[in-house]
Amino acid sequence: MSLGLGCRRDSYIQSPEKQPVPGSASAGLTGRTISEPARQIPVLAETDVLVVGGGPAGTAAAIAASRAGAETWLVERYNHLGGLWTGGLVLPLLSTHAVDRRNRRKQVIFGIGGEMAQRLKDLGMSISEVNPVVDPEAAKYVLDEMISESGVKMLYHAWATGAIMEENVIKGVFIESKSGRMAILAKIVVDCTGDGDIYHFAGEQYDMMNYHIGLVHRLGNIDRIKDPSALPDGLDLGSPTPVKSVNWVNMQGRRDQNGVDVLNLSKLQMDYRKEIWEKTQRIRSTPGFEEVFLVDTASQMGVRMSRILEGEYRLTLEDTMTFKAFPDVIGISGAWTTMMYKGRAVKPEERPYWQIPYRSLLPRSTENLIVAGRCFCFERDLVEDTRIIGTCLVTGHGAGAAAAIASKKGISAREVNTKELKNLLSEQGVWLG
Ligand SMILES: Cc1cc2nc3c(=O)[nH]c(=O)nc-3n(C[C@H](O)[C@H](O)[C@H](O)COP(=O)(O)OP(=O)(O)OC[C@H]3O[C@@H](n4cnc5c(N)ncnc54)[C@H](O)[C@@H]3O)c2cc1C
Repeated sequence: MSLGLGCRRDSYIQSPEKQPVPGSASAGLTGRTISEPARQIPVLAETDVLVVGGGPAGTAAAIAASRAGAETWLVERYNHLGGLWTGGLVLPLLSTHAVDRRNRRKQVIFGIGGEMAQRLKDLGMSISEVNPVVDPEAAKYVLDEMISESGVKMLYHAWATGAIMEENVIKGVFIESKSGRMAILAKIVVDCTGDGDIYHFAGEQYDMMNYHIGLVHRLGNIDRIKDPSALPDGLDLGSPTPVKSVNWVNMQGRRDQNGVDVLNLSKLQMDYRKEIWEKTQRIRSTPGFEEVFLVDTASQMGVRMSRILEGEYRLTLEDTMTFKAFPDVIGISGAWTTMMYKGRAVKPEERPYWQIPYRSLLPRSTENLIVAGRCFCFERDLVEDTRIIGTCLVTGHGAGAAAAIASKKGISAREVNTKELKNLLSEQGVWLG
């Protein structure tokens, strides 16, 4: 079958000419480019909603869309759901709580994210009510279960590598896998790749944010340490997980790193693995710590930030500090860290809950594309809150519900009636304030 579809500013063939990232592999090491011959690509599926990326945002989006009655495919490059939450070993689901107008700290994240947290709690696989820390394997299992139950068609081991465009309308994506190159066509595409791969392929504008990249690991036999305070300076035993005797160890990592430069990612991967191995050996050679061992390093590199969409509305720190109400609110997120606001440090215990408008998930020119997760549209001052798992679950849920409405009604993502969207989200258990 011939697709007959053009690729507008598609970067997968000509990336050196299109939006090269300075100093990155996409600028080309040799400076040469070659032409890729045109060929016919088999269409794997034609669906209502296609979600790309199965992290917190993508999993929530796919479940929301499917539960709302849209045929939904979810494409994930790795072998599990959860993204950085599971594969990145980033185990605390942060931002579950914040302060309301009467200064009461309360739970703000419900909906599909809330269900995930509850199911993990019911399994005995999370610790702490506020900002629960979960077990990664249990989370992968729970997310698979929820995807199956909601009827999503799950495709693992497949990378999205290009946007299929007709003028400024996205029609689907190309994927690459062991089965070769294929296309999936959809009425609505939801970009939950974390790095905004799909809007980049579609030629959207974005802000490129270099940030800290780390690699998380886990240590075992923590319960066999008699005196943890005897650990020499510079070494870290991390924090507890739901599995007794296993800790997760966060890594800030190097600052100002490009998270979409494959050469940079490759170098960091090797440097960090060596660093973790050597630090673990230093821990094991400390008297009293001999039985500590390295359980694993994360299968997914800890890219905190990369692309930030230039969307229809840029959510601001000011919005989030002042209970700003949006007519197109799709969800609410909370607080987990101290934020500087007007020269004052605002602690999580006093931070207001904040609304997220649907317009912040919409690109400016591409039709039928919705963006959720850590790459939607917000100002950099807000990055610590917008990139966090709780917020990604909320934006994912909102994007999936909107995609279902648009695909079922045969309208564009931009034309979704926000009252109808809010009604659907409320029915699906989202708290809108
Ligand atoms: C070191 C580190 C520590 C952190 N600590 C915390 C913490 O304690 N608590 C917290 O709440 N947050 C934390 N975060 C932030 C949080 O984990 C992430 O920002 C969040 O998981 C982002 O969710 P997401 O769904 O947008 O993207 P991701 O979690 O990155 O998921 C994106 C998914 O898309 C897939 N994908 C990407 N590109 C493609 C493609 N082209 N084709 C197919 N699939 C693709 C990926 O494999 C992945 O599964 C931390 C992040 C890092 C890096």
